[in-house]
Amino acid sequence: MKGIVLITGSSRGIGAATALLAAKAGWSVCVNYVTKADRAEKVVAEIRAAGGKAIAVQADTANEADVKRMFATIDAELGRLTGLVNNAGVTGRAGRLETFDAATMRRVLEVNVIGTLLCTQEAVKRISTKQGGSGGAIVNVSSVAAQLGGANQWIPYGAAKGAVNSITIGASKEFAPEGIRVNAIMPGLIDTEIHIEAGVGDRLQKVIPQVPMGRIGTAQECAEAIVWLLSGEAAYMTGANLLISGGR
Ligand code: NAP
Repeated sequence: MKGIVLITGSSRGIGAATALLAAKAGWSVCVNYVTKADRAEKVVAEIRAAGGKAIAVQADTANEADVKRMFATIDAELGRLTGLVNNAGVTGRAGRLETFDAATMRRVLEVNVIGTLLCTQEAVKRISTKQGGSGGAIVNVSSVAAQLGGANQWIPYGAAKGAVNSITIGASKEFAPEGIRVNAIMPGLIDTEIHIEAGVGDRLQKVIPQVPMGRIGTAQECAEAIVWLLSGEAAYMTGANLLISGGR
């Protein structure tokens, strides 16, 4: 076994692809979701059918009590955590900045930023060699929007992912002496339901001309990088932020 990993928001999209790939690589996986239990159970069933170990746990990563309960469930049902993928994220409905209400902006910041901070806190308590852990890795799922700024689409989301990049840098330095590597990926246009939820399901096709490689990326292509960053093959890497955007 590679270890025990929590992948937040892994009922669908990039998280689900990562959960399936991590399980294939030998990780025991906690599949987290917020509302779509059926989708999470489907991922768990697929992992178990292939001989892997997985559980599904509902938790809103922006909610401290939920996060604590989720980690306690992992302790009890899978064992001591060695990996975390902070993948859960929301964009809010796409539009110019004036169209965002305060509640939506708060939610975008809370899920992407507070969620990443809360899960990292709990993971460190279990992974840190200074706290009785055996060391391990954290991968944050940021976005190319952190660099591009999200103009005309989602400035609050770009700002939130900028904060995720700062968390990656800070945590990589703070926890390196305790055996924890912290890296991130910045996906570009990836074919998932996040665009439909943002009310711009046609966005992927429209933005293709801006992608030097001339195509959309897949959740699987992100998962490959995440599982590699979790693995011992990336043993000397920390504080890195891999751009997975077809050159955009
Ligand atoms: P997605 O298909 O919309 O899936 C989102 C996942 O996050 C679902 O599993 C959802 O659970 C979960 N989730 C949402 N809010 C949550 C919360 N508060 N607590 C726990 N789980 C929550 O999204 P995706 O495209 O795979 O995105 C995954 C990550 O990649 C996000 O951080 C996103 O910002 C980032 N990203 C995506 C793209 C892209 O083009 N797709 C590009 C750059 C970065 P339910 O199923 O229960 O709703």
